[in-house]
Amino acid sequence: MDLPQIYQLSEMLEFCRKTRENRQTIALVPTMGALHQGHLSLVEHAAQLADRVVVSIFVNPTQFAPHEDFAAYPRTLGEDAAKLAQYPAVVIFAPQTSELYPSGFQTVVANEGLGLTLCAKRRPQLFRGVCTIIAKLCNITRADFLLFGRKDFQQLRVVEQMVADLNFPCTVVGSPLVRARDGVALSSRNVFLSQEQRQEARMISQGLWRARDLFQGGERRAQPLLAAVANAIAEAPGLAVEYLWLGRWDTLEECVELSVPGIILCAVHAGTVRLIDNIELGL
Ligand code: AMP
Repeated sequence: MDLPQIYQLSEMLEFCRKTRENRQTIALVPTMGALHQGHLSLVEHAAQLADRVVVSIFVNPTQFAPHEDFAAYPRTLGEDAAKLAQYPAVVIFAPQTSELYPSGFQTVVANEGLGLTLCAKRRPQLFRGVCTIIAKLCNITRADFLLFGRKDFQQLRVVEQMVADLNFPCTVVGSPLVRARDGVALSSRNVFLSQEQRQEARMISQGLWRARDLFQGGERRAQPLLAAVANAIAEAPGLAVEYLWLGRWDTLEECVELSVPGIILCAVHAGTVRLIDNIELGL
């Protein structure tokens, strides 16, 4: 079956208008492509929620700093379309950068709370770029549901905050984190890992699972929980921790001791590849 692929903004606006006219609901799954099973799990979730699923495939330049991997980011539209062909509800939206950011573009959406912490300390442009593109995609599609992976947990919370603060008429849905068989969280950037780095990357999930085991054994203090993760990562000499953090699951406030459900978030570098991961505690 030929999967509908829309490249032009006007065509996407028309598709969404007609879908609404037919009283069908729309779920939006924003992606940067190079699709893997993590993305496909969002698509499957979206297809349960809405009649049509718009999967946007757009490597968003505004969320990358000049020194980051925008140019090198994997672009595999043909393969992505083949992977999505199994979902009859899907339409792909793969716009041109020049149509989403025409010359003269001036407006950004910035979260000035959660969007300034954790990943944003090293990547200050990240959530400003994310909020801006998601706001645009929401306005273009007027989607009823917005699907995000819990792998990028801070992003999920920042988008939820934006949707609440700016009264977007849609529901944000967080979908479970998907891991490879070796425990590594699936990510489009994993293709850049050497075999050795891939082996080492396993220590991140190993550490997170050790912390979860401690938590399940009754430990609530941040120090030992985070030490369990740090010690596992330290077993892999090629890994460097950017941040390792524990806080409340709902508000992402940092905690020294958990009295409510929590989450450990981390960013770890394997050479030039930046990996983020997390584990939810107590849900
Ligand atoms: P990206 O293409 O990396 O911008 O990701 C697009 C969407 O897929 C985001 O909502 C991510 O959180 C989600 N995603 C990426 N990797 C995973 C994963 N391993 N498990 C669940 N969701 C994921």
